[in-house]
Amino acid sequence: MSNRDYYDVLGVGRNASDDEIKAAFRKLARQYHPDVNKDPGAEEKFKEINEAYGVLSDREKRARYDRFGREGLGNLGGFHDYTMDFSDLFEELFGSFGFSTGRSSRRSPRRGRDLQMQVNLTFEEAVFGVEKEIEFQREEVCSRCNGSGAEPGTSPVRCSTCNGQGEVRQVRQTFLGQMVQTATCPSCNGRGEIISTPCKTCRGSGLERKTVTKKVQIPGGVDHGTQIRLAGEGGPGVYGGPNGNLFLILNVEPHKFFKRRENDIILNIDINVAQATLGAEIEVPTLDGSEKLKIPAGTQPGRVFTIRGKGVPYLRRKERGDQLVIVNVEIPTKLTKEQRELFEKLAQSLGTTVKPKEKGFLDWLNETFGG
Ligand SMILES: [Zn+2]
Ligand SMILES: [Zn+2]
Repeated sequence: MSNRDYYDVLGVGRNASDDEIKAAFRKLARQYHPDVNKDPGAEEKFKEINEAYGVLSDREKRARYDRFGREGLGNLGGFHDYTMDFSDLFEELFGSFGFSTGRSSRRSPRRGRDLQMQVNLTFEEAVFGVEKEIEFQREEVCSRCNGSGAEPGTSPVRCSTCNGQGEVRQVRQTFLGQMVQTATCPSCNGRGEIISTPCKTCRGSGLERKTVTKKVQIPGGVDHGTQIRLAGEGGPGVYGGPNGNLFLILNVEPHKFFKRRENDIILNIDINVAQATLGAEIEVPTLDGSEKLKIPAGTQPGRVFTIRGKGVPYLRRKERGDQLVIVNVEIPTKLTKEQRELFEKLAQSLGTTVKPKEKGFLDWLNETFGG
């Protein structure tokens, strides 16, 4: 995506009003919409327009953009609240209630648009679950006009072009003779009604953008990238259609020590040479507090110990995964005088010559160096 100035993208001045921005967006979106414009690059252009409008149509984002530029937007609100797919946009553009030209039959129920937002969780919140308060914007049925689009006290009037049918018949002369075609009424966009006095709040769209806060129960056991669907929390349905859904996309912060592999927790720990050789009982952290772990004598580096049931809960059953403790044996890099003497004694006792593990190594040594 290019880095063009959003005002340049929409071709408006920095002082443009909301209406001017909206008008500029509509004009450009009509021109570059991929359903209309098949030129290569039109889709990219359309996305750019869409992105610019997403920012400039939102008061808070626009203010930040004016002050700090693109960097100022960061991930404001954690998501693009202007996420809509092209068909939704098409419908918004070509009719306030979604009468796209010939795409959906008129007044048929349609599902509202889906929304998505990112929700940030700590590692522990993802493991054990949490109640989160989320805030997002969505369109709702306008409270002033109850969705009719007409200013209270007025009502839409029947369209005179189509006589309320929403469709017009056109007679065309072709070389085969007369042909009759029906088309969506251009005056009312298929609604059959015309709003002569649009509602002041929604300007006739019947929809109002609202900020919604909501408490959501995130179950224990979710992971980075998990999607949670909140049915019916998206945009409003049209003509009896169901509401869209809201999808929460979970972003889980990594933990300082713990890693996760599905439902198991992985922890790397260091023990010293004496502990590995002689055995020891050590304390290891788990998500539920510290736990005693017995290191048997002669433990080799890389050995994995399993602490049962201290992992991540499974989403649909009551069990939990395990914690896997991977042991690394630390070789000392600094020794006190006393320790050095002890190691030297140890070296003498073990013999200082190379002691290969396999016979093959000795053979190779003999062949190579003629030993
Ligand atoms: Zn309204
Ligand atoms: Zn009409």
